[in-house]
Amino acid sequence: MSRTVVLIRGDGIGPEVADAVVAVLHAARAPLAFEEAVVGRAAEKAEGDPLPARVLDAIRRHRVALKGPVGTPVGKGFTSVNVRLRQALGLYANLRPVKNVPSVASRFQGVDLVVIRENTEDLYAGLEHVVVPGVVESLKIITEAASTRIARYAFEYARCHGRRRITAVHKANIMKLSDGLFLDCFRRVAEDYPDVAADDRIVDAACMRLVMNPESFDVLLLENLYGDIVSDLAAGLVGGLGVVPGANLGTDVAVFEAVHGTAPDIAGQDRANPTALLLSAILMLHHLELPDVAGRIERALLATLADGVKTPDLGGTAGTREFARAIAERLA
Ligand code: NAD
Repeated sequence: MSRTVVLIRGDGIGPEVADAVVAVLHAARAPLAFEEAVVGRAAEKAEGDPLPARVLDAIRRHRVALKGPVGTPVGKGFTSVNVRLRQALGLYANLRPVKNVPSVASRFQGVDLVVIRENTEDLYAGLEHVVVPGVVESLKIITEAASTRIARYAFEYARCHGRRRITAVHKANIMKLSDGLFLDCFRRVAEDYPDVAADDRIVDAACMRLVMNPESFDVLLLENLYGDIVSDLAAGLVGGLGVVPGANLGTDVAVFEAVHGTAPDIAGQDRANPTALLLSAILMLHHLELPDVAGRIERALLATLADGVKTPDLGGTAGTREFARAIAERLA
């Protein structure tokens, strides 16, 4: 029986990487059917809302989506579709495994860390206002409920996946109330998990340590904004945004998407690396309890890279489509 997955191809390089991933999933005969949904600028033009209610309904109905990146206007225009989607569907945990991919050159080897980012509040609450002309205020919302929930998720994840240590990353020396609450919740939850080590670091010091000794970290737990920034930093340690996958998880809905954005600088040029979205699809196949097909695709991806077939971001010359075809040819 096939599972229906909502497919959001997105903008910029989104359609290119999404088409490449769907081609590989088809070639692997993954038992999936796709229901396509359009969001972002195209949806705003056609329906007056960049995130139509019917798209949220479709994801709630099918409970799983695979999503390409969606652009957000800078400094004006509509609220981020990505943030709205996470908030509307209660996708409170953003999971980003950052790991060296064999055959991909990078500044470090031996990196195997997991970024867990709180996905629903912090400065992403989008509460901004002008106090008086020339003075604006953005509200950072941190709640005990959301901080406890994400900490519990992180410890459960660590336990299930054999991870030994969680480091909470914060700036509680300055934001004593908000980051202080996040840290207190982390420490309280940690008491229930004596089998997992728990420590914490101030965000600036954590960043320095990440770029000097990334292999010294295991699981990182962060609020929304620090999680966003540290995810891209961590991607840079293992070869860039082209190779880091992600999942947005709620209690009964999951949306799988890469860490990267729409990459407008290379969009439409058949240069984008679909590996990050393909690794996100592999996370999705595990979530759907399809480990065999996930394993076959992962082996074909690694064989392709080992044969030197790579997109330009990894130093190769293969186009997005050619790279996907090469993976499909290597499926056992
Ligand atoms: P970006 O991640 O799109 O690009 C940063 C750099 O990484 C660019 O040089 C780009 O070419 C490169 N890159 C990214 N993905 C790549 C891939 N798969 N293959 C090869 N190179 C890749 O970041 P940005 O330029 O800051 O953001 C562009 C837009 O994307 C913005 O509108 C932003 O809001 C949006 N965005 C969306 C999401 C999402 O949908 N979840 C996430 C991040 C950014």
